[in-house]
Amino acid sequence: MRMYDIIEKKKLGNELSTEEINFLIENYTNENIPDYQVSALLMAIYYKGLTRRETLDLTTAIIQSGEEMDLSSIEGIKVDKHSSGGVGDTTTLVVAPLVASLGIPVAKMSGRGLGHTGGTLDKLESIEGFNINLTTEEFINQVNNTKVSVIGQTKDITPADKKLYALRDVTCTVDNIGLIAASIMGKKIASGSNKIVLDVKCGTGAFFKNFDDAAELAKVMVNVGTDMGRETIAIITDMEQPLGYAIGNAIEVKEAMDVLNNKGPEDLRELCIHFASEMAHLGSDMSIEEAREKIIDVLSNKKAYHKFEEFIKAQGGDLSKGFKTSKFSKDIISDKEGYLKDIITNDIGNAAMILGAGREKKTDTLDMGSGIYFYKKIGDKISKGEVIGTVLTDKKESIEKAIELVLTSLTVSDTKVEKRKLIQGKVTKDGVFKY
Ligand code: URA
Ligand code: CA
Repeated sequence: MRMYDIIEKKKLGNELSTEEINFLIENYTNENIPDYQVSALLMAIYYKGLTRRETLDLTTAIIQSGEEMDLSSIEGIKVDKHSSGGVGDTTTLVVAPLVASLGIPVAKMSGRGLGHTGGTLDKLESIEGFNINLTTEEFINQVNNTKVSVIGQTKDITPADKKLYALRDVTCTVDNIGLIAASIMGKKIASGSNKIVLDVKCGTGAFFKNFDDAAELAKVMVNVGTDMGRETIAIITDMEQPLGYAIGNAIEVKEAMDVLNNKGPEDLRELCIHFASEMAHLGSDMSIEEAREKIIDVLSNKKAYHKFEEFIKAQGGDLSKGFKTSKFSKDIISDKEGYLKDIITNDIGNAAMILGAGREKKTDTLDMGSGIYFYKKIGDKISKGEVIGTVLTDKKESIEKAIELVLTSLTVSDTKVEKRKLIQGKVTKDGVFKY
């Protein structure tokens, strides 16, 4: 088999065989095929796409490039959640203890962030002493004892994806549905959960800007999960604006703790209740409605918050030490008047990044206390001179640039603007349901 022929076949729009896909992934992982040939193939895939069978084969090959986590010694149905990214997404920190407090196990492997803010792991590491590097045995024991653990993805899981993703990142081939689906589902399935709930974001802060494209990505991912025997559903959620008020690391952990304390921003709370209900439903014999009632109960009686404390303590974290705070803070004052109509969400994310909350390069270190509070939601009335947010940073020189980025990302209107619908639809193996 020759890589040249595989590239040509895809260039002409033909379907690659299972053997060709296995050849590609095996030999790319072993460094027998150079980056330049895989780059050419990725671009051909970008234009010609992957069939359902090819996507499934690619996912399988990515899983087989490394080890699969065996979670069978954890009692119960393991339901994992994955979010396709976005700005200020704190959901996992809330949802994991929330589901666990109903007695349903959450054994989660999470990633670091490259971009606007850290990933879930980075956020957890803003808690003094928190250890993300448990051995598999410690991880499984902790889930059996406390029902929840979140650790870093080990390097043995899907090494092919790591290489491919890095290459896609520099060859402008990330935003292809088949490639995204194989990458995300490969990691999820190799991480060992029985069922998967996907949060597919849609809007200016996400891969795909409109509902139909997001639903198409969701459908392809749900198909992969279904074909591999792991029940998978996807919820399409709005990313036309940041989630919650906090965009950063420590400040997002604090916001997650607010939600677990039955407070916090309404949108983040609603999203977390929605996902926790879907996960609890899949992980038990409860209906979604029953699950939702129980979730609201454990929020108001603080069981969910106590589960969070138990989870953090079990992994060495000490909440009594408090969080790192930034040296400088400055309010963001509105220079416009009207109803907030539009936000370039990515620009707010970029502002958080230059303040120190995110990484531009993999090797950048995060300033855990830095970030942005942005208090306004689309549809809110804003007055000129009003405080609409705050920037936090150790880097004094980044303050004005960040504030300017936030202010220029906003468009206001003289006439009333409707609030955004956060939960936009659901995709299951039976089809797409728009809410
Ligand atoms: N996240 C991933 O892990 N992979 C992709 O391809 C896109 C987002
Ligand atoms: Ca947030």
